[in-house]
Amino acid sequence: MKVASVLIPLPVAEAFDYEVPETLVLARGDQVTVPLGPRLIRGVVAEVRETTGSNRRLKAVAGLVDDPRLPPRTVDFVEWAARWTLSPPGEMAAAALKGLRAPRPRPERRVRRVENRQPGRATPARTAVLDALGGRMLAAADLARAAGVSAGVIKGLVDEGVLEVVEITAETAFAAPDPDYAPATLNPDQAAAADAIAQATARGGFAPFLLDGVTGSGKTEAYLEAVARTLGRDPAAQVLILLPEIALTQDLIARITARFGNAPAEWHSGVTPPRRRRVWEAVAAGACPIVVGARSALFLPYPNLKLIVIDEEHDGSFKQEDGLVYHGRDLAVARARIEGATVVLASATPSLETLWNAQGGRYDWLRLAARHGTAVLPDIALLDLRQAPPDPQTWLSQPLREAIGETFARGEQSLLFLNRRGYAPVVLCRACGHRLTAPDTDSWLVEHRYTGRLVCHLTGFTMARPSACPSCGAVESLVAVGPGVERVEEEVRALFPEARTAVFSSDTVPDAKSARALIQSMVAGEIDILVATQAAAKGHNFPNLTLVGVVDADLGLRGGDLRAAERTFQLLTQATGRAGRADRPGRALLQTWTPDHPVLQALAAGDRDGFVAAELAEREAASLPPYGRLAALILSGENAVAVEATAQALAQAIPNAERLEVYGPADAPLGLIRGRRRKRLLVRADRDVDLQGFLRAWLGRVKVPGSVRLTIDVDPYSFL
Ligand code: ADP
Repeated sequence: MKVASVLIPLPVAEAFDYEVPETLVLARGDQVTVPLGPRLIRGVVAEVRETTGSNRRLKAVAGLVDDPRLPPRTVDFVEWAARWTLSPPGEMAAAALKGLRAPRPRPERRVRRVENRQPGRATPARTAVLDALGGRMLAAADLARAAGVSAGVIKGLVDEGVLEVVEITAETAFAAPDPDYAPATLNPDQAAAADAIAQATARGGFAPFLLDGVTGSGKTEAYLEAVARTLGRDPAAQVLILLPEIALTQDLIARITARFGNAPAEWHSGVTPPRRRRVWEAVAAGACPIVVGARSALFLPYPNLKLIVIDEEHDGSFKQEDGLVYHGRDLAVARARIEGATVVLASATPSLETLWNAQGGRYDWLRLAARHGTAVLPDIALLDLRQAPPDPQTWLSQPLREAIGETFARGEQSLLFLNRRGYAPVVLCRACGHRLTAPDTDSWLVEHRYTGRLVCHLTGFTMARPSACPSCGAVESLVAVGPGVERVEEEVRALFPEARTAVFSSDTVPDAKSARALIQSMVAGEIDILVATQAAAKGHNFPNLTLVGVVDADLGLRGGDLRAAERTFQLLTQATGRAGRADRPGRALLQTWTPDHPVLQALAAGDRDGFVAAELAEREAASLPPYGRLAALILSGENAVAVEATAQALAQAIPNAERLEVYGPADAPLGLIRGRRRKRLLVRADRDVDLQGFLRAWLGRVKVPGSVRLTIDVDPYSFL
């Protein structure tokens, strides 16, 4: 008989075996329903094999689902990703099926021109319709709007046979990009980079690149050219462009539409389920040549993936820490290897891991030296707050205030950067010194003035600002301590009442649409002074921005985790890189209490190489990534005794291993989240140690009780 191993979305380490009924012909990647207890659930066939008699009776596969089969290499990728991250393979497979949650949308209708048919009577309205349509396919309502006519005009043209109605299926949902639609003229560096990438996609086979150039050097332009050449050679090729944040997708989609004449498919959590289903099916049908998405777009069922671009590859947002724990950049490189595809990691401030790979020759290193055209990098100066401290209860020093004033007087824009949401990061009782925390979490409540609430940024818990201290009962004793973006904006408004100000943070810009609106008004010059968190520090082009003020350049240097200095360097480089485009030189002023800090010195000197060399030397001395490997085990549960007992059981069961150490168990820095106690263990290993094998052997020796959750984080970025 035939047996199918089926990956089902449960926290189990293996596929489950089912008998294949004779009526079914199954293959790897097929989606099936299988019985599990009293239920039927959906799974993916990992393997079908012939067995000769079995001593246990297997349940049978219930049916084949009428959804496309996952391409074999997609299944390879899912299985590899599960092994690498020690995640249940069925849950990884479920990540590849996420687009199928919504029912199949009803076919959409579009109208298009019928060849060689002219209207019998050419009225101005009809001409407007035909001009607006051109060679495209549009929904009738969109066409009527574009042409400024009533729906009746379009219906008339359809009735006459000048236009025809077509139903959109997965195969036709995404109009093919035209590689020759609006090509750019590249500078020599850009052309060399685009050549190298396009030649690699033409050759085929795994080929990783680092595309390294300062902000505005034209990396996007260069990789879009490589995309064009790849699709020009092979129209069936598929390209995935990954971005760290949804807020960046709109800008890139607009550029791709301008470059290729048609919009790419978009994939992230902000896309509606029916739309996602359409994208999923189009990708599976091989009919979706360009996908722009967040990290989850990695799991789409590409049958013919030739090129992956990871833009802003250094960005920590590629790391997913809820649910499945994985690093989108690292899995993207793995996916490219499995697909035999080219992968481009683009950044102005590459991660140390990626630079190390490039230095070692594992990645081809493409460098874009100068900014495109004549634009120059901003002058960066440190403002020593010890010399010029801000007045009490204000956050902008006199030199920064003057610079903002001069910039405003010239009609140019300023960006004040502070990576802190809300009004004030801490609320404190003047009477008893109590700091307000969320009731079930070790994290301070942040005051938000716009909403008048106190918010826990970790869990989302919110409460109205109390009028009395919850600890001592003193009335009117609570004070806001320190600045958030809202408070800096308050100060700016008071200083420059006639300037137009705005705040850009995940609170004021919660979704892609509002992000686009705010970015557009910044580009259009409708904002003079923008106060922003890191949400605005990356990726966007603001041509009239000539001053970047970093309110607290020391923030982030204090914390002390593995990547604190690296992240600060990247964030500040990105933030200061916003200033000065095209014909307007920019400047960046960094307020700091520690101007001698090596990170700030390297920044002020524009010395990335110096910073990287120093930081790599420190990592090497401690055998930390990229010279060694890390994995974290996090235990959490409401029952503190059970968490502690499990931590001890793990500590007792550590297998013998060389060139590997286990630290902990210790209370996590955030020891309580949502009422759950947390403990951590950290494993460090030399690079050539089989870390995953060690972890599997270790975890195989310990039974974790149902009341305790164990999260495994291979290559952790958060140490909280
Ligand atoms: P990066 O991705 O490195 O930040 P971009 O590709 O966004 O740089 O380029 C920065 C700006 O310069 C953009 O406005 C872009 O349109 C423009 N630009 C870059 N290269 C060219 C080129 N070869 N021709 C015309 N404009 C270019």
